[in-house]
Amino acid sequence: MRDMAAKLVVALVFIVLASPASAQTTPNARVDPIRYTIRFPAPETHYMEVAATLPTGGRATIELTMAVWTPGSYLIREYERNVERVTAVASGRPLSIEKSAKNRWRVVTGGAPTVTVAYGVFAHEMSVRTNWVEAGYALINGAPTFMTLADGVVRPHEVTLSLPAGWTRSMTGMRARPGVNQYVAPDFDTLVDSPILAGNPTVHEFTVGGKRHYLVNEGETAQFDGARAARDFEAIVRQEERFWGELPYDKYLVLNVVAANRGGGLEHKNSTVVIASRGTTTSHNAYLSWLTTLTHELFHAWNGKRLRPVELGPFDYEREATTRSLWVVEGLADYYGDLLALRAGLLTRDEFLSSLSATIAEVQSTPGRLLQSIESASYDAWIRYYRPDENSPNVSVSYYSKGRILGFLLDARIRRLSGSAKSLDDVMRAAYAKYSGARGYTPDQFRSVAEQVAGSSLGDFWARWVKGTEDLDYSDALTTFGLRFGAAAATGRASLGVTTRNDAGRLIVSPAAQNGGETPTPAGLLTDDEILAINGRRVAADQLRRRLDEYAPGERVAVLIARRGQLQSIDMVLGSEVPSMWQIEMDPAATELQRTRLTTWLTAS
Ligand SMILES: [Zn+2]
Repeated sequence: MRDMAAKLVVALVFIVLASPASAQTTPNARVDPIRYTIRFPAPETHYMEVAATLPTGGRATIELTMAVWTPGSYLIREYERNVERVTAVASGRPLSIEKSAKNRWRVVTGGAPTVTVAYGVFAHEMSVRTNWVEAGYALINGAPTFMTLADGVVRPHEVTLSLPAGWTRSMTGMRARPGVNQYVAPDFDTLVDSPILAGNPTVHEFTVGGKRHYLVNEGETAQFDGARAARDFEAIVRQEERFWGELPYDKYLVLNVVAANRGGGLEHKNSTVVIASRGTTTSHNAYLSWLTTLTHELFHAWNGKRLRPVELGPFDYEREATTRSLWVVEGLADYYGDLLALRAGLLTRDEFLSSLSATIAEVQSTPGRLLQSIESASYDAWIRYYRPDENSPNVSVSYYSKGRILGFLLDARIRRLSGSAKSLDDVMRAAYAKYSGARGYTPDQFRSVAEQVAGSSLGDFWARWVKGTEDLDYSDALTTFGLRFGAAAATGRASLGVTTRNDAGRLIVSPAAQNGGETPTPAGLLTDDEILAINGRRVAADQLRRRLDEYAPGERVAVLIARRGQLQSIDMVLGSEVPSMWQIEMDPAATELQRTRLTTWLTAS
């Protein structure tokens, strides 16, 4: 705590003293930069070679550090484990370099004014926060790639990419320097916040509000309709500009890697990395999911990257940054991800309501919602959300899902309290105006903005559902908009009566809840049993639903399981699938006022 505070003061003082007027665009000439070159001598081996030339300031030793995590993804990832062959030289002379901590290296400079530290980085993890290098392209993230000086000084970081023959270009949110594939970040934060895609991407460009936007597709083939995706992305940008009133960046890039499996997105100040599955534009649902991911990530350019919890910046890249406000960052980005896609005309009203209903059903079937508050879920993201295990649903709740629902409930309440004069939209804009500067908001400050906009106390809302674990009450929100839950209709589908999970291809029975949850423990199946076959036929881990659909509730089946290594067959009677009670629909008795509120909400007109 003290270290973080001290670091903040040092950084601010430095900016004030050393960078008059234009710290972001003109790094101060008196501070020597770190210069990196990245080469790919054999990209098919998934390695890149990094050389960093560092100013020593005349010191006898310098200390280098690598980030152990990436902002936006809250888990210690020990990126330094992929670094190899670390050497240091000055004027062609080898220097002594040794590790001084798990993610630090100390160089004896011999008095040299600059030293060059070179290392190889293994880059073979396809995710939005790691590195990937293959014959055709590279996705480079800052945190897992760049060592920097551990002296806390704000200095420019310059990057030069030396691309293999056949690679034509690189794309990043960093400012370009004169020369091909050369960039500069005014500080280490910007370097970490500026992923790079290099290879032969297909680039779609358009301008909104005078700002250039780029949809950069790696892997755009006949299966991925890039032109349509760019048109729809432009509609999202226009909708978000309308929502916030301005675009807060000079340019914005979507680095979209079309790969085998979908891998989500990660936000940055003027870019996002998204991993899309190959069939994204050929499946309606997959495409909607991609579009709402883009809407969510772009929303973070305001909510998360600029308007932020006080704890999320300046970052200490060597230890966890815990905050109770991730539900504001992520849950509300999820809420608006769907809502703004709807307002942009990319989602129908039914699709919007059914997606919201699915999230409600998910939270209501998570027993942990009655044990863990959303502030605790935010705070413990590092040890819970990002490290799920078989008991997670019983003891924790997702700050994404519950946060999204809180967005819905809060929005409805503010609209009702203010006679439709105000909404959660106004809260986001007011919070942005107040807390998107050097300092972020505390949980109390965010609540206070919401109360000012609502013109009323929201103390009970926070006590019950933000700080507390009381079950959510949807009635006011539904009534506000003339909505209701449809009657829970029996699906007629068979069920084993237990919750299962796909554990690396094995179908495993999950523990039942201990706190009055809705997961019954049937006679027969026990926690950790591996389900192998039903009536003598193998059940693949991802095919249980399909296999159960071959039977009716009440039928007797033999379930072959492995229990602690011992095979055994259990005779059981199939139960009935529990029907969803959470499908939102229009209430036919809705009044004109309710219908008007609904339309205003969904169209922002
Ligand atoms: Zn997010």
